[in-house]
Amino acid sequence: MPILRTQKQITILGIGNELLSGSVTNTNATYLSSQLARLGILVDRHVVVPDELDVIVSAIQECRARQSSVITTGGLGPTADDLSLEAVARYLDVPLEPSPRTEAHILKRIANYNQRASRAAAKMAQIPRGALILLNSLGTAPGVICSQDEFFVASLPGPPVELQPMFEQKVLPFLAKWAGRSPCFLRTRLRTAGLAEPQVIRKLGRYAAGVPGKLGVGIYTSYNGLDIVLEALTQSKSKRPPALMREYAQEIHRRLGPAVYAEADGTLEAIIGQLLRKKGLSLSLAESCTGGLISKMITDAPGASDYYRGSILAYSNGIKSSHLKISEALLRKHGAVSGPVARAMAKGVRESINTEIGVSITGIAGPTGGSAQKPVGTAFVGIADSRGSRVHQIRGYGTRSTVRKGLASKTLNLLRLHLLER
Ligand code: ATP
Repeated sequence: MPILRTQKQITILGIGNELLSGSVTNTNATYLSSQLARLGILVDRHVVVPDELDVIVSAIQECRARQSSVITTGGLGPTADDLSLEAVARYLDVPLEPSPRTEAHILKRIANYNQRASRAAAKMAQIPRGALILLNSLGTAPGVICSQDEFFVASLPGPPVELQPMFEQKVLPFLAKWAGRSPCFLRTRLRTAGLAEPQVIRKLGRYAAGVPGKLGVGIYTSYNGLDIVLEALTQSKSKRPPALMREYAQEIHRRLGPAVYAEADGTLEAIIGQLLRKKGLSLSLAESCTGGLISKMITDAPGASDYYRGSILAYSNGIKSSHLKISEALLRKHGAVSGPVARAMAKGVRESINTEIGVSITGIAGPTGGSAQKPVGTAFVGIADSRGSRVHQIRGYGTRSTVRKGLASKTLNLLRLHLLER
């Protein structure tokens, strides 16, 4: 999807050797990008640099040259390789100065006070002159924001548990003022399941292309399916999408029908929860190859106890027989990974846990155990309720982990479609 340029843009600058070596995933960048998107602020680069003073300073210089303000993450702590504030001060050509208020705050947060702690507090309380100080409510190292006219560098701590509340409580209000009335972008997404990308593109026709300079359309894979992201520039701070974006969202909905399961941040499990609650139905699960993953996803939705009663994790044939009443003859005749066994598992769990709906899955997660008829990733899903039962054959792809995730989300989508039909 082409980037729609806003006047004001931000670079997220991750600082730390651990990000470059692959020992830590740069989740701060993803988190900050999605938060900034909500404000309609463009993130024009994710950059990661090592804990080296000159490199950090020149990375900030490059951002300024591109007229991009900067949010740095990490490198605020007490050790010698925590260099973020020194780099900001050097770039702005201002001294680092002790902040007694910050030092007192840090010392209050350090439980075991000793000489080392006192030295650490003194180091972390060295703040670039003129900076806005963001005291850390969940850790020790403070964040800071240094502004020069329209340009700013905000330095935030590395640990996500510290960065996120600091960003939401202290940086968001600053950014809302900074962005002011300048043009921003609005983003929304339609989340789909059950369709492959070529099918989506064909069904969308000209709506897959967007309108240059006005509306961008992007199609991205999420492990539940495909997300169709719409982005438009707007002059106003109103959250109401422009007419063109509304037209696209409606038309895409119309063309893809029930394959669209949610808008914005909705999840399959949340939608299933809404449907079960609305229809007053209860759910139980019998899982084999997914090892509890579907149960985990169902219970990710807050309030799942309203409709979800429990699961039987029937990994072995023995448990399938003893807890789901699957006869040995059926297992012998069709094999554990088969439609008839999936159907019997769904009926068995529904009866055993006493729910309106029982859902089951049995399959081959791999990497071994596949055959020409039933390759790795093959699974059968059973759905049973008071009206009868159905079986679906599905397939997951890739590694054992992606196979299981794919099978779990396909099963949830089948359950969603079943509930829509009832
Ligand atoms: P501290 O006071 O804990 O030293 P800090 O601000 O100096 O905090 P770093 O030392 O750079 O931060 O990183 C501390 C930890 O924060 C890292 O070990 C890592 O677990 C996490 N972290 C750092 N940067 C990121 C990032 N970009 N995304 C996710 N986690 C990160």
